[in-house]
Amino acid sequence: MQASGGYESSPELVHRFEALPGWQSMFPESLTGDALVMATEIGAALRVVGNNLSIFLGFRNPEEASGGTALCRLSATAELTAPRTIVVNRHGHRFADESFFQAVAPRLREFDARTREQPNLPCFLIFDAGYAKGQSFAGRAPGREIPSWVLRATSLEALAIELRIDAEGLAATVQRFNEDVRRGLDSEQRRGETPWGLARFDPSTTLGPIEQPPFYGVRLHPTALSSAGVVADTEARVTHVRGHPIQGLYAVGNAAARTETGSGYQTGFSLGSGLTFGLLAARGLALTMNS
Ligand SMILES: Cc1cc2nc3c(=O)[nH]c(=O)nc-3n(C[C@H](O)[C@H](O)[C@H](O)COP(=O)(O)OP(=O)(O)OC[C@H]3O[C@@H](n4cnc5c(N)ncnc54)[C@H](O)[C@@H]3O)c2cc1C
Repeated sequence: MQASGGYESSPELVHRFEALPGWQSMFPESLTGDALVMATEIGAALRVVGNNLSIFLGFRNPEEASGGTALCRLSATAELTAPRTIVVNRHGHRFADESFFQAVAPRLREFDARTREQPNLPCFLIFDAGYAKGQSFAGRAPGREIPSWVLRATSLEALAIELRIDAEGLAATVQRFNEDVRRGLDSEQRRGETPWGLARFDPSTTLGPIEQPPFYGVRLHPTALSSAGVVADTEARVTHVRGHPIQGLYAVGNAAARTETGSGYQTGFSLGSGLTFGLLAARGLALTMNS
């Protein structure tokens, strides 16, 4: 039986199946897709979910290095929902409601046919001293000093130069954002206004001006769950490319191809699916052993 996870920490498989430049794994380094490789070697069918929206943004945190590699820390549910933060692309433009990760995910895959680029990767988290004073960054206690590996500058222009993003674009974006904040409404991306966001907080609680120097910026990376996995049937049996089950081989959890697509990721899908198909596989195995 395979419950060996996905391939999020394999640069080769990520390159083969994902189109997300700058991908960083938020999973342990052991998740290198061994199950996928071994199962396909004996004829397992493979499925790639074309519209995998279980993508988040995170930043590399050198303080959490494991084996010399900086781990990618998820920022979707902390920094990106907090006031006095925005996410901009290299043009200095915001492109989504930062507080709702499902609004951000599809915009990361966007491709501009004229410029031949994915305009929203790389992207950057921008925040100000007001955020630093009152909020938690990278899991540290609120108000603790921002670590030295985060770039900072006394002006937005200088920060933009350090981050290599368009300074005029960033200035215009922040000006509009700050004006909106004073009116209590994000006219550009309607931050915090999705029903999911409203269930948790009033939109204004995610808004705050970016105006107090120093200004801080950190590069954000896409970090996602694997889009490809081996095909398993309703009893968690791995399916051969010719359509029949491979005897004795089961796949559950992230080793198996996703069954959900289109509507985006909901928290609990992965663990729920792993538990459900794990039970079905164990029942199937028990029946086989008793027959
Ligand atoms: C930061 C973060 C937050 C998350 N939040 C949620 C959430 O809120 N809700 C949710 O449902 N899911 C969440 N997930 C996803 C969830 O944790 C995973 O989808 C789930 O753990 C997958 O379970 P699994 O058993 O398929 O694989 P894993 O839990 O990844 O376990 C696979 C195991 O197999 C081992 N392995 C791999 N190759 C080999 C080999 N060749 N030999 C021996 N062992 C091997 C690995 O070391 C690993 O221990 C989150 C993930 C992360 C990283």
